[in-house]
Amino acid sequence: MFEALTEKLEGIFSKLARRGIVREKDIDEAVREIRLSLLEADVNLKVVDELTGRIRERAKGEKVLKSLTPVQQVVKIVRDELVRILGEKDRSLELKKRPSCIMLVGLQGSGKTTTSAKLALFLKKRGEKPILASLDPYRPAAGEQLIILAKSIDVPYFVGRGSVKDMCGELLNHAKDKASVIIADTAGRLHIDEELMEELREMKEILKPDEVILVADAMTGQEAVRIAEEFHKKINLTGIILTKMEGDARGGAALSMTWVTGVPVKFIGVGEKLKALEPFHPDRMAQRILGMGDVLTLIEKAESVIDEKKALEYERKIKEAKFDFEDFLEQLRAIRRMGSLTELLELIPGFGGMMRKLPVKITDEDLKRVEAIILSMTKEERKKPWIIDFSRKRRIARGSGTTIQEVNALLNQFKTMEKLLKELKKGKLPFKFLGGGI
Ligand code: GDP
Repeated sequence: MFEALTEKLEGIFSKLARRGIVREKDIDEAVREIRLSLLEADVNLKVVDELTGRIRERAKGEKVLKSLTPVQQVVKIVRDELVRILGEKDRSLELKKRPSCIMLVGLQGSGKTTTSAKLALFLKKRGEKPILASLDPYRPAAGEQLIILAKSIDVPYFVGRGSVKDMCGELLNHAKDKASVIIADTAGRLHIDEELMEELREMKEILKPDEVILVADAMTGQEAVRIAEEFHKKINLTGIILTKMEGDARGGAALSMTWVTGVPVKFIGVGEKLKALEPFHPDRMAQRILGMGDVLTLIEKAESVIDEKKALEYERKIKEAKFDFEDFLEQLRAIRRMGSLTELLELIPGFGGMMRKLPVKITDEDLKRVEAIILSMTKEERKKPWIIDFSRKRRIARGSGTTIQEVNALLNQFKTMEKLLKELKKGKLPFKFLGGGI
C-alpha cells in the first residue's frame, strides 16, 4: 500500500541507526529526507510542512538527543506525528436513529456503488439489517449494478425512480419496517457541479442521514483531497471512504485527507471483492507506513529486554573499561531472547556499533556456542578472564562442548575489546572507533 514510502523511511532510519549517536545535524538531514519521501508519495504540501516541522522540533529535544536510544525515539516521534495527521482516534460509523441512514456521495467511477455493497456486507456481518438503495435518477445502469451486488450478498434493495422528493419519500416508507440501516447510493458525476450538489442537499434534507460519506478514489492522489474539500464545503460530510487503496504505492491521499479536510477517514477499500473493506485505524496505518510491523516490534523487543537503566550501566562500564564476561553474557542473552542478531544489532544501545567494529564477527550461529563457553566459566573467571590458564581452558571447552581453539578465540576477542576500551578510557581513541560516530 505504501511500499515506496515505507522503503524510503526504513532507509532513513537505518542510516540514522548505523551512526549510533544522533546529533542535531543528523536530525536535520533525516527530516529533510523524510520530507522528500512524503512529497514523492504525493502527500499534500501543507501536511508535509506540518508533519516535518513537528518531527524536527520534537526530535531535537534534549530528551531525544541525550537518550541512549535516540533512533528509536525519533521513529516513535514520527509514528506519533503520523497518527496525529491521520486523525488520532478510530472513527467508526455513528448510527443513531432507526432505521439509520448512510448516504454515500462521490464522483462517478470512485467506487461508490461497490462500496455501498461492501458496507452492506460489513453491517450485515455485525448483525444489522441493511437495505441497499440506488438513488440515481439519471443512470438506470447504476440501479442494475446495485441489484446484482445486493443479490450476491443477499441484502434487500430499492431502486428509486422519479424526482428526488418522490424517491426519498418512497425509500423511507419502504425501509421503515424492513431494515435497520439504509445505505443510499447517490448519483455521481464526472465533475462536481452545482446541480448535483443541490440534489444531494435536497436528499439530505429528506433522508436526514446519520452519516454523509464521500467515496473517493485514492489513486487520484491530491485530486481526491481537493474533491473532498469541495464536497465538504457544499454538503458537510461526516466521513470519507478511500477506495483502491491496495493499488496505490504512493498513498498521499490517505495521509493528507483528514488533516486537510477535517473529515475523518472511516474505511478504506482494498480490492474489488465485496469483503475488501477495512475500518480505518490511524495508528495501524501509521505503523504500516513506517513498515513497523517490523521496526516497531523490534524496538519494543529491544526495549523490553534492555531497559534504559541497564543500558546506562553498560555504558558506564564500557567507558570505565570494566565490562566483563558477566556483562557480556547478560547482553548475549538479551540478544538471544530477541531473535536474530543481525537485525537486532542496530537496536542495542551502544553495543551494536561496537560489535560490528570488532575484528572477529559474531554471527547468529556463534551465539549459542559463545554463551555455552561463558556459562562453563566460573563466576571468578568471568570477572577476571586473565586467570584462565590452559587447564581451565580445557575444562571450559569440555564443559561447553567446544574446542580449546574456540575458547581461545573468544578470550582473544574479549582481550581486543578490553584493550580498545582501555585506550578509549585513556583518550587515545576517538569514541567513533566504537561506532559512536562523534
Ligand atoms: P461508481 O461509479 O462510483 O459507483 O463506481 P463503481 O462502484 O462502479 O466502481 C468503479 C470501479 O472501481 C469498479 O470496477 C470497481 O470494481 C472498482 N473498485 C471499487 N472499489 C475498489 C477498490 O477498493 N479496489 C479496487 N481495486 N477497485 C475498486
